[in-house]
Amino acid sequence: MPSPLAEALRELALANRIAANEGVLDTFGHVSMRHPGNPQRYFLSRSSAPDMVTPDGLIEYDLDSRPVRDPGAAQYSERVIHGEIYKARPDVMAVCHHHSPAFMPLLITGVDYLPVFHLGAVGGIKPPFWDQRFEFGDTNMLVVKPEEGASLARALGSHVMVLMRRHGVTVIGANVRDCVFRAIQTCRNAEFQVRAMSLGAISSLSEGETRLAGQIPIKTTGLTRSWDYWAMRVGKADGAPAAVRSEGKPRRVAAKKAVGAKKSGKGRRR
Ligand SMILES: [Zn+2]
Repeated sequence: MPSPLAEALRELALANRIAANEGVLDTFGHVSMRHPGNPQRYFLSRSSAPDMVTPDGLIEYDLDSRPVRDPGAAQYSERVIHGEIYKARPDVMAVCHHHSPAFMPLLITGVDYLPVFHLGAVGGIKPPFWDQRFEFGDTNMLVVKPEEGASLARALGSHVMVLMRRHGVTVIGANVRDCVFRAIQTCRNAEFQVRAMSLGAISSLSEGETRLAGQIPIKTTGLTRSWDYWAMRVGKADGAPAAVRSEGKPRRVAAKKAVGAKKSGKGRRR
């Protein structure tokens, strides 16, 4: 029987694959997890396309984003995003950084993110923008220095999401599933918002509605149901329908191999 840590690492690898399969991540972007037994550490994949992340490719880092052991592999250059947020926010247990096309129109124009349907409320009220050039001048736009990550974490403040001008989004969660849920649903909201704005003036949720609807992931079965569904879609993409249950345990031995196994490419969705 796998240890709780092994099970958590398996879930983190699956989280990356789900976020990729649902269009949040492509060849860039990543989901990390604070070490469940040591708040001074976190796990993030070695440099890899998110859809190819496997549990044995996860690297353990300290909060200064230094690998605890020689990883023997290339690392993500933007890992300081994760380390600096874990350092600044003890309540955060998972972080997703992405460059989803759904958000790019907002990130390019600086138009505020507005929850325009109930699940979009999981992005919180008026998530802040962060513009790297204000503090650091001309850069290659990647967040690679600890001070850049710390600046981003300050901009995030107590919010659940920070919008990075002309770059991407960083969203946090109380656990891996919560983080992935917020990442996927806010991308859908951003897509709806931009489409609706092309038609005319939009009507968004009030602050009260946003607070109430923002509780949906923790007060309903929607999070579990969503995770089951997204995990099943990853299994389908591997040619193993209904492969993964919500507990993270596969129903069949063959299905277990599907997660992190070599992809067939059949039925994949982008
Ligand atoms: Zn990035």
